[in-house]
This record gives sequence, structure tokens and C-alpha cells, in this order.
Amino acid sequence: MAGFAEVAKLAEMLAKEPGRLKKRAAIAEAIATVHAESGSEDAGQFCLYLAGQPFAEADPRRLNAGGALLSKAVKEVSGASDSLLTAAYRRHGDLGAAAADLWPEKMHGQLTLVEVDEAFAAMAVARSTAARAALVEGLLRRATALEAKYLLKLMLGDMRIGVKQSLIEEAIAVAATAELTAVRNAVMLQADLAQAVRMAFAGTLDEARMRLFHPLGFMLASPVESPEEAVARFTGKPELDESAVVHALLEDKFDGMRAQVHCGDPSQPGRVAIYSRNREDITESYPEIVEALRHAPTPMILDGEILGWDFATDKALPFARLGQRIGRKRVDDAMRRQIPVVLMAFDLLFEGDQLLIPLPLRDRRARLEQVFARLGASAVAPLEAVKTVSQGNLFAAAEPPGASLPRLQLSRAQMVESAEQIDLAYAEARGRANEGVMLKAAGSTYQPGRRGLAWVKLKRELATLDVVITGAEFGHGRRAGLLSDYTFAVRGDGGEPLNVGKAYSGVTDAEIAELTEWLKEHTLEDHGHFRTVEPLRVLEVAFNNVMRSDRHASGFALRFPRILKIRDDKPVEQIDTLEAVEAIFQSQPDKDVDESEVSPP
Ligand code: AMP
Repeated sequence: MAGFAEVAKLAEMLAKEPGRLKKRAAIAEAIATVHAESGSEDAGQFCLYLAGQPFAEADPRRLNAGGALLSKAVKEVSGASDSLLTAAYRRHGDLGAAAADLWPEKMHGQLTLVEVDEAFAAMAVARSTAARAALVEGLLRRATALEAKYLLKLMLGDMRIGVKQSLIEEAIAVAATAELTAVRNAVMLQADLAQAVRMAFAGTLDEARMRLFHPLGFMLASPVESPEEAVARFTGKPELDESAVVHALLEDKFDGMRAQVHCGDPSQPGRVAIYSRNREDITESYPEIVEALRHAPTPMILDGEILGWDFATDKALPFARLGQRIGRKRVDDAMRRQIPVVLMAFDLLFEGDQLLIPLPLRDRRARLEQVFARLGASAVAPLEAVKTVSQGNLFAAAEPPGASLPRLQLSRAQMVESAEQIDLAYAEARGRANEGVMLKAAGSTYQPGRRGLAWVKLKRELATLDVVITGAEFGHGRRAGLLSDYTFAVRGDGGEPLNVGKAYSGVTDAEIAELTEWLKEHTLEDHGHFRTVEPLRVLEVAFNNVMRSDRHASGFALRFPRILKIRDDKPVEQIDTLEAVEAIFQSQPDKDVDESEVSPP
């Protein structure tokens, strides 16, 4: 029987090996060995764990063991104090690596994969935190330092060894001498890496079938700066070539919550599931969508954007309004009234018994329009939830729930051929207070999990601001021990710095290292994780929009700020002013939202 030590040893080796091909060869060899010695059941489990998944994706079970529970178990088993563990964590930014530093040497590992699987299964059904903690400690007590390191990483769902699932899929194909495309297809349809390994070794990959109620990967778009660049991307012709013709569908780029909706499975009547872009099940937050799609006549998977919707004007509400519902587990009538939601559908990935993603977009779109024609009018839900009262043995609506509102909308799509048409459509989309436009090659297949070139998004920067760093925070993971998160300010009337936001993306590792040294030397107050610093380093930042906020001294907060450049060439006296922020705020079409209305997730 294969041991967890095999996973840990391989993981440790992979973490140090930079070469992709060498990594793949090592994984393939290990899978083949486990398979030869212990069979395909273990080989499947081995791959699943190496990918950092305690359970297969299609498996709804969860370990329910977060950082707090796990660090407590580490202290309990290793005998390390709070401060020792904190210091080790600070060194690595990773609980597994921190634990390995503190682990008593004497322990001998003998955990088998089956035992880990059994302990995980028990954790998923444990009724109390204490019971779950006891199971974790039971596992850890039997682990060597190396096993503990990777058990913890596995339980946290992130191995951090520079190995993506796609590389493991390649290794599976090599180990089982199977077609890579068949392996990938089975993994996608079944959402179970271990099952795909078993099928690969059994030669039954072609029997993989789509199962509803696990999310497929989302197709994403890459950014372009101008209509001309979009055309050039699609046609492969230079930007100035006016003869270039595209065949692309253009839609508004909606600013809501991307969602994949599964419904209509006759074997699970009435079941509707909504998944977010990071594959979380967010069904509970949007009961109206569930009510509307409960009676879908055939199995289907819709791709779209959940939007807050103003039924009076038939327009999307600004994102900040919808933001109040994101992450909510319970949605009451007041919330349903205040922020009604719709699903703006733009793609159909599965229907009946057919996976549609290999079809070109124009065909998927035609199918989506047919579905909408059949379903749109009945996909309704009232403003408030229907309440039922018991009347003898009968249940009846206690009060009329009000008019039923259409909760399924079809995104408008138009064929465009030239940069000029795109430019016009962009202006119209902005006029509807949408972020920009999406262009999708009409002949393209749906590529789950890809940010390919078949979809591009055109979104001009609202504006950029030159700001000064006033504070910095230590990062996590790869950025542990580095000051990588920057709070920044604009100039007030009297020249004083007024904070407007916080950003961490956009700077290179080398820049972070340099900034860390500099910020340490120019620290004003050291609060441990956070420092205030002398306002001397200037950054140029871009952002999506500006909101009013009482979180920062400026009274504004930038949404999705990213650092474009460190502007050491620019003196602090020349950074942007509060007045400039106010002007940008006023120029926004959808400015009427106050960030204080947005509750934290
Ligand atoms: P980004 O998050 O900037 O990479 O842009 C991709 C996101 O745009 C997707 O995840 C969707 O949430 C969103 N989006 C908005 N409108 C559309 C649309 N019409 N088609 C596809 N994605 C869209």
C-alpha cells in the first residue's frame, strides 16, 4: 500500500526543481510506480493529493479545517509555543513549512494513503471542532516532519510546489500511455482527478460523461487597449491595416458577478446550483435565480453574469450595490427588494445530453437563444420570497408575492467587423454605464479555464493617479517577509497626504525587494504587520472606479487599484490632489454609490 511519504517526498523534490519537463517526468515515474506496486486506486489518490485536493472536485465534502484549527494542532503535536510558530510562519509564510521547522525529529511516518483518506472522510462528517481537531492531531502525531509539512499544505488546499493540475494530467497520460486530450476531457467532465487516473489505466477514458453540479472552468478574456488592437488580435494583421475584417460577437462587459448555473437535471428535480469564478457554490446568495430556473425543462449549464438590476429602468445597478449581496448566506426580503438580481446569460455550455463547448460560439449562441425563447418568459421570481402558511393539510401563499419578475436575461450580442463598429459600440456600452465591451471570435470554442485570445475585453483606463506610499504591509506566501502591500495617498489642500487606497499588484519581485529595504529604513511607526512610512515614494496607479468611502482620510476609495509604475522621477509635491480624485469621481456614469453601503464579504 502506498504511503503518504511518497507524496511528500515527490512534492519536496518538485518544489526545488524548476524544469517543467523534469517535473513531469518525475511525476509520471512516481505515478507508474505507485500503480505497479499498489494499483490504480492508490495511484488516483496519489495524484489527487499531489494536486493539493483532499477531495475530488465533484465531491461536495469539505474538511472544514482552516488555518486556526491547523495551527493549534501543530502547536499541540510539536509542543512549539505561539511565538515560535509565529516566527516560523513569518519566515516561510506557509503553515506546512513552518511546522516542519518545529517538528520533533523522533517521529517515524507510516501513514498510508488509505489512512489519510479515512481521516479526511471522518473530518468531513465530524460534528464538532474538537472532534475534527482530534482527527488532525491523530494524523499529525504519526507524521514525520516532511509528511506533516505536506499534510498541512494538502489540508489547506495549496501545495505550493509549482505544479499545476494540467502538468499532473500530462504526467498521467505518460504514466498510463493514454491520450492527453482524453485525460483532460475525462478530468473536466467528471471533475475527479483520481477517477480519471483509474480510467486512464483501465483504458476507459472514452466512457467519461458530463455530470452536472460541479463547475466547469470559466473562459476568460485578455485585455486590449483599443478597438484597433482588438481587430489586430483577431486577424493577426497589423493594427493600421484597414482591410482587416473580424468576425466577432460584441457584448457589453457587465460589472457583476460571473456565474455558472446548472439546472434541469431530471434525476434531481428542482435542483439549481450557481458557481462563482473561483468555483465556489454561491447558490444560497441568489434564491431568485434558483426559483426562476427550478423548472428548467432540460439539463443545462448557463454561463453569465449575475447583476443587480433596476427593473424600473431596465438597467444594471452599479457593482457596489450587488456587492452587498456577495458572500451572504441568507437573503431576506429586504435584501431581495433593495437589490434585485438577474442572470445575464451569455453562453450555453451544456444542454440535453450534449456538451456544447467544442462548438463554435455562433452555434452555442444560437442554442442559447433557443433556450431563452423557450425558458425566458417562465424564468421568473417575485420581488419577495413566496411565503406559505399551512391551512389544514394544504399550503397556500399567505399573501400575493407581487408581480413575478424576469430573472433570466439574454445578453445582447452583435456581429462586428471593423474597429469603427467596435468603437461605436464601446461608447454605447459606456453610455449604459457598463465597463466596456467584450469581443468573442464567432468561430471559437469555449475553452474552460483559459484566458485565451478568442475573447478580448476592451476597457479603457478610467484614469491614472500619481500617489505617494504612506504605509506598507507584509505579504503572504511567496511574499512573506516582504513589504508588498502599499497604502497610498493623494495631496490634500494643505499638501498633507490623504489615503485613497491600497494596492499590491503590478510591481516586480525585484521592485518589491528594493521597496521593502527602503520602506524599512523610512518607517515612522512599526505596528508589526503594518508600518506607516515617510511619504516620499511616488507610484502611478490605475483603477476601475472611485467610490466615496469613510475608510480613508480622503473620503474616497479606488476600486481595483493596480500599480503601473514606480515614479521615482516625480517629486512628491507633484502628485495628484484630492481635487483630481473628486473630478474623476464626478465623471463616472455610475457614481451614485457610497462604499459605506458595501458590507465586507
Ligand atoms: P476580467 O475579470 O477583467 O478578467 O474580465 C473577465 C470577466 O468579465 C468575467 O469573469 C466576467 O465576470 C466579466 N464579464 C462581463 N461581461 C461579460 C461578457 N459579456 N462575457 C464574458 N464575460 C463577461
